[in-house]
Amino acid sequence: MKRPARVSILGATGSVGASTLDVIRQGNLNGPAFEVVALTGNTNVKALASAAIAAKAEVAVIADPDLYGDLKAALAGSGVEAAAGPAAIVEAAERPAETLVAAIVGIAGLPATLAAVRRGASVALANKESLVCAGTLLSSEARKSGARLLPIDSEHNAIFQVLDRPERVEKLILTASGGPFRTASVQEMTSATPEQACNHPNWMMGAKISVDCATMMNKGLELIEAAYLFDVRPDQIEILVHPQSIIHSLVAYDDGSVLAQLGLPDMRTPISYALAHPHRMALPGLERLDLAKIGRLDFHPPDMQRFPALQLARTAVSAGGGASIALNGANEVAVAAFLQRRIGFLTISQVAREVLDDFLDEPQDVAPESFEAVYEIDRRTRERTINKLRLAA
Ligand code: NAD
Ligand code: MG
Repeated sequence: MKRPARVSILGATGSVGASTLDVIRQGNLNGPAFEVVALTGNTNVKALASAAIAAKAEVAVIADPDLYGDLKAALAGSGVEAAAGPAAIVEAAERPAETLVAAIVGIAGLPATLAAVRRGASVALANKESLVCAGTLLSSEARKSGARLLPIDSEHNAIFQVLDRPERVEKLILTASGGPFRTASVQEMTSATPEQACNHPNWMMGAKISVDCATMMNKGLELIEAAYLFDVRPDQIEILVHPQSIIHSLVAYDDGSVLAQLGLPDMRTPISYALAHPHRMALPGLERLDLAKIGRLDFHPPDMQRFPALQLARTAVSAGGGASIALNGANEVAVAAFLQRRIGFLTISQVAREVLDDFLDEPQDVAPESFEAVYEIDRRTRERTINKLRLAA
């Protein structure tokens, strides 16, 4: 019998992390079998410890070093090792496991994602910010080590599923639900609360990506992610609003064929596809798509006026170099400030635009050649964004 595949999950206490743990449980019931190596979390000791005990993980790592004692106590007698701190997360990613699920949110996920890429693992990637900030560097590290990047993000996973002839691709069409403010007026968006922004019509997700869906920065980040993952020019990537989130994305070929992947919005399907690759695994518990019940699928182009983040992402990816790092860093800081009710919803895209413009005005046009350079651009961007937001406050 084939031995179980060893899997580690970075960001195991989050939304993608929880869906991944469920896919692993289903795999262990119906096949293929998985063995959990490392699970990591940021601050939620209780959730991390109970997930690690239930999954019989080798090690659980909490990012906050002050929580080491709490984690050790929560794991006492379970046989699960405890560790803490950002360096321990990187060490967890270095442990032998065929697959690493990168599901930390933000550029905070980059060091551990990089560690897994460098040791040649299959990296099931949800953490799109890693690719947005270091797409060229990560791809080149993956070529050196033989690591594979398997997209979990539903749009990219859809493309991955139907991309049989990459050399014949004319266009990638990324679908977007349009988020909770798809039909909202600018006035309504001005006074939008974190609760309204996080109330996504089709998907249950972490707070940061939910706000990104509301500004449509998420689709902008996904455009950059797709350009790196599939090695296509940004002008070959189209954004199409599709409110039902049934078609997860499409690939248009040069013979006029357009292939799409469909399914109900449930992250367990793309996660399972990445975990089982090159096979598929059965998920008998999941609700099935019933198109007759859904009745109709709608499509329209995005409104670039109300959702300026889409244009910002196009500008950043076309400019190349560190521009995407600047856009991402400004967005991370602004989204956190919005969630803390320190800035208004529309200020997120406004400050991202200002920071990106400042970055592009600087006399720099070289792409960052090292990960240190990536972290340095991110650090400066965050400082600049915090200063701007203080001025605006
Ligand atoms: P989440 O907020 O629910 O979970 C984030 C995870 O990262 C948690 O385990 C948290 O503890 C951990 N984390 C946060 N900050 C950290 C830090 N500084 N150091 C170490 N760990 C930290 O987010 P999510 O919705 O699961 O999204 C995770 C990633 O997956 C994001 O990059 C997101 O864009 C991407 N993604 C999510 C979905 C989805 O359906 N949720 C879909 C596609 C892509
Ligand atoms: Mg997505």
